[in-house]
Amino acid sequence: MLYSNLSLNSQGHLAIAGLDACDLAAEFGTPLYVLDEDRVRGNCRTYVKAMQAHFPEGSMPLYAGKALCFRGIYPVIQSEGLGADVVSAGEIATALSAGFPANRLFFHGSNKTDAEIAYGVEQGIGCFVVDNSNELAVLGREACERDITQRVLLRVTVGLDPHTLAAINTGRVDSQFGVPIETGQALSFVREALSTPGIEVIGFHSHIGSQIFEPDSFCDQVDRLLAFACDVRDELGYVASTFNLGGGFGVRYVIDDPEVDLAANIRVVAEHLNAGCTKTGYPLPRILMEPGRSIVADAGTTLYTAGGTKEIEGYRNYVMVDGGMTDNPRYALYKSAYTVINASRAVEDADYVCTLAGRCCESGDRIAEDIRVARPRRGDIIAVLTTGAYNFAMSSNYNRVLRPALVTIREGKAHLAVRRQSIDDLLGLEML
Ligand SMILES: *Cc1c(COP(=O)(O)O)cnc(C)c1O
Repeated sequence: MLYSNLSLNSQGHLAIAGLDACDLAAEFGTPLYVLDEDRVRGNCRTYVKAMQAHFPEGSMPLYAGKALCFRGIYPVIQSEGLGADVVSAGEIATALSAGFPANRLFFHGSNKTDAEIAYGVEQGIGCFVVDNSNELAVLGREACERDITQRVLLRVTVGLDPHTLAAINTGRVDSQFGVPIETGQALSFVREALSTPGIEVIGFHSHIGSQIFEPDSFCDQVDRLLAFACDVRDELGYVASTFNLGGGFGVRYVIDDPEVDLAANIRVVAEHLNAGCTKTGYPLPRILMEPGRSIVADAGTTLYTAGGTKEIEGYRNYVMVDGGMTDNPRYALYKSAYTVINASRAVEDADYVCTLAGRCCESGDRIAEDIRVARPRRGDIIAVLTTGAYNFAMSSNYNRVLRPALVTIREGKAHLAVRRQSIDDLLGLEML
């Protein structure tokens, strides 16, 4: 099994955190998102522990809620001692309505609207991650109007290509996120921020991409951020107390992906930072990281019911499931690889080569191609692993397919965290 929380039970079924996947499907219906809360907590603890051990006091992980945002995740994140990233009024409202403290929220986004900026300030967001000078001006005005000083991080791009997919690579100079260092614009951005009334700059943010397995890219990023911070110090006399390194540590979707030792990687990055600060005489900043995927991805599984199979001689075998790109668009977007298990026949040989197709009217509606599973019969429960991140969060109603329910497993019990969307929900917005 790919993960330690998965097992085979005496019925020959897949069990998730000890619960029979077929029973879960029978109780809650399919498609179904299942999230193992203990595994989320384990991932949180790995970050908190490693960051506390290796980075200066005050360093902490911020959960990037865009990976999986629903109310039930926030008490988990909060009790594990993480802060959280939010990117919209919707994410802010979700976190706040779950009782998450506003002062532990970091408000991201490359194009926050005026209304969202006002809402964020009003709600007492701890820190804005300011993307550009337009935003800075609006934020300064809002803060002054309310007679407060808003803490901010300034988002810069370090010009790095961490050799991941172009679509999820945001650290390059040519990016719609942040302000580039290379062109000199980032320095002007800092100068401007330092003289904007109502704004207190606590440091710099950069995010270089996603699904990064090695610490080298993060070390390069630290070098560049530090060099930039030294330039800022020399030019403007400003010293940053905080570096935010963004998110992006990879997770293992298939057995061929490397296993990521988060703690070891964090130690390497920390040692690199310490050496850099010693060399440049820069005071060691506290470090923030923004893991999303590596907190929730491997805690999530999607359960589908197999429908028909289609064997096209000389070509391929299709297994159709009752979901697809509407609950998981990642294959359609990035050709992301997944591990698939026939949960109803988890003890049988996984020797049937097939393509898992969704139910939408799109030939691109696939979850995985040319995978091996135990040959499915109609009605079998098909489990797709590692769907905790960017599945629920990216789901849609394309073809008027209803969004699945989300169930969390805590201490051996399943809890319905988000109910299945209904036809009434779907039609409820329509005014004519
Ligand atoms: C997407 C994103 C993250 C989270 O990335 P993961 O790969 O899920 O860890 C963190 N910070 C920023 C700014 C992002 O855009």
